[in-house]
Amino acid sequence: MTPLEAIDKNLNAVKQAIDGALRDNHRLENATKLVAVSKTKPRDVIERALKAGQRLFGENRVQETEQKWLDLKRLYPDTQLHLIGPLQTNKAAVAVSLFDVIETIDRLKLATAVSRHIKDTGRKIRCFIQVNTGEEHQKAGVFPAEADGFIQTCITTLNLPVDGLMCIPPTDEEPALHFGLLRKIAERNNIKELSMGMSADYETAIQFGATYVRIGRAIFGSRTN
Ligand SMILES: *Cc1c(COP(=O)(O)O)cnc(C)c1O
Repeated sequence: MTPLEAIDKNLNAVKQAIDGALRDNHRLENATKLVAVSKTKPRDVIERALKAGQRLFGENRVQETEQKWLDLKRLYPDTQLHLIGPLQTNKAAVAVSLFDVIETIDRLKLATAVSRHIKDTGRKIRCFIQVNTGEEHQKAGVFPAEADGFIQTCITTLNLPVDGLMCIPPTDEEPALHFGLLRKIAERNNIKELSMGMSADYETAIQFGATYVRIGRAIFGSRTN
């Protein structure tokens, strides 16, 4: 099997595992959507997934996304791009023009800039708030104790279209605790989308109510850079 053929096979296997986890947890069919994380992956690899029918993709850098996706989005206009990496305020305008979902809103200054660019352009994008459930200082995201206040400020004061939360659990802890915490924060704030679960733990995330899982390696193989 060539590396490109492996993508077809992996994509099918992941989709089946998602369907299986939804069934096991008595959740509705298609209740969890697959975001294929194509960061660092070249264009031919991405195009293979597009040809296999995949339409949701996650990228973590604005500039890389611009370079790889401008023409791919023209060829596959129903593609939806999720920004899953940290966003600098000075790149907010480009991000708003490029992405369909910004999953990493985590501070007031960024939320304000994104809100302004959405208003200026009339773009219909969606925003998720990133929550640092493990309170790791090297990681982005609002701390759980500040989440309610931040979410409400984004929605009420800034009029930001927030309809999801996202988290990246610490690598050395039981992810279930973090998924459970994120879900609780979402429930008490009336937020419907939960972006949680990566290659190693997406079945657990589905058990805890993930509506989006972000999967890279299990589809595209390991990243060398
Ligand atoms: C890279 C990345 C992923 C995908 O991780 P894999 O282990 O390759 O599935 C998911 N979410 C975020 C935020 C990432 O940066």
